[in-house]
Amino acid sequence: MPYLNKKGITDVEVSGKKVLVRADFNVPMKAGNIKDDTRITETLPTIRYLLDHGAAVILISHLGRPKGQVKPDLSMAPVAVRLAEVLGQPVTFINDCIGKKVCQAAAALKCGEVLLLENLRFYAAEEKNSPDFAKDLASFADLFVNDAFGASHRAHASTVGVNKYLPSVCGFLIEKEITRLGEVITDPRRPYIAVIGGAKVSNKILDIENIIAKVDKMIIGGGMGNTFLAAAGHDMQSSLVEVDRLEWASEFLAVESHRHKLLLPVDLVASAAFAADAEHRVCGLDCVPEGWQALDIGPKSVDLFVAAVSGAGTIFWNGPLGAFEMDAFADGTMAMAEAVANADATTIIGGGDSIAAVHKAGVAERIDHISTGGGASLEFLAGKMLPGISALPDKTA
Ligand code: ADP
Ligand code: MG
Repeated sequence: MPYLNKKGITDVEVSGKKVLVRADFNVPMKAGNIKDDTRITETLPTIRYLLDHGAAVILISHLGRPKGQVKPDLSMAPVAVRLAEVLGQPVTFINDCIGKKVCQAAAALKCGEVLLLENLRFYAAEEKNSPDFAKDLASFADLFVNDAFGASHRAHASTVGVNKYLPSVCGFLIEKEITRLGEVITDPRRPYIAVIGGAKVSNKILDIENIIAKVDKMIIGGGMGNTFLAAAGHDMQSSLVEVDRLEWASEFLAVESHRHKLLLPVDLVASAAFAADAEHRVCGLDCVPEGWQALDIGPKSVDLFVAAVSGAGTIFWNGPLGAFEMDAFADGTMAMAEAVANADATTIIGGGDSIAAVHKAGVAERIDHISTGGGASLEFLAGKMLPGISALPDKTA
């Protein structure tokens, strides 16, 4: 396995140890409720193995973007409740992640017991990758397991700092993700097609440039597609367009090899407003009514895109093709979900909203790999080694 030769949980003795596990429990929340617990259930194999083999488990994670402040609505407390349910045993929650309270709870923790600490990002030191913060986290444990694939593209204290102060290994979820995504990086079944959408171009620019070099075709739609269409000279009216990325998009479109591989929408669903009940209609690329915005791809684009993915050997999809949360603008994304599920291809989907979309379409069971990492899977498939994984020792070390 060229992409992963990291020391794993089964390579070390865990019995009788206090094990600090960096998990990715950054679950989507709505009004204090967990909307989707995939990231919790996907971490169970690691937690169960450690408990079954005589370890005491101390879990750490971030949730949302509290930006270094204590935000009660981003507390990990609801995660502790759900984790206890799916694990089938009590989970003690401590409302801090460093300090005396945590020290005491960790010291009292017995083998087979589980502790979950508060949101790491309540401290700015986490995202700053502060060595002192990493040292504090490391102080409660004898061993560090990183299983937070969805956070592994970030160089934070809990992903690349803690391992400097503790013997460290890679968890089962990271192993699974890297194995599945690694196959696509090293030897994708061709044609290999990437479907990229979502709200914005800006945070995916580098990845798009790297991925288009690796694929046979790239479909771009959604809000991101609008910026490309605008760069191609179409008047997108009040659509979501990133004006400061137009120059980049024009340059991207000017590259001949990109033009051969790229499929952009050929029609749109335009709406009078960003609202579920707004007046809307299908229109050509140059016919978005004045002051309206494109919120979905149109039926001709759906036919074009569906035909492209139907013949694929590998499909990687990140980012919905429209504002699918509103039914009026979900057709393009739902059709793509169905087409990806039906394709005789290795299918991989990453990204929180993309995953919600395949659930909405009812096809999640027919996708080969639903990655727990959005940015992480995109960066990995763009060919970047993820810092949280690079930081872990190799098997031979
Ligand atoms: P993911 O979470 O899968 O990585 P993103 O977060 O990048 O995806 O983008 C998802 C968001 O993009 C959704 O909330 C969706 O409503 C929005 N979106 C998609 N197409 C459009 C569009 N044409 N106009 C406005 N928003 C859009
Ligand atoms: Mg998202």
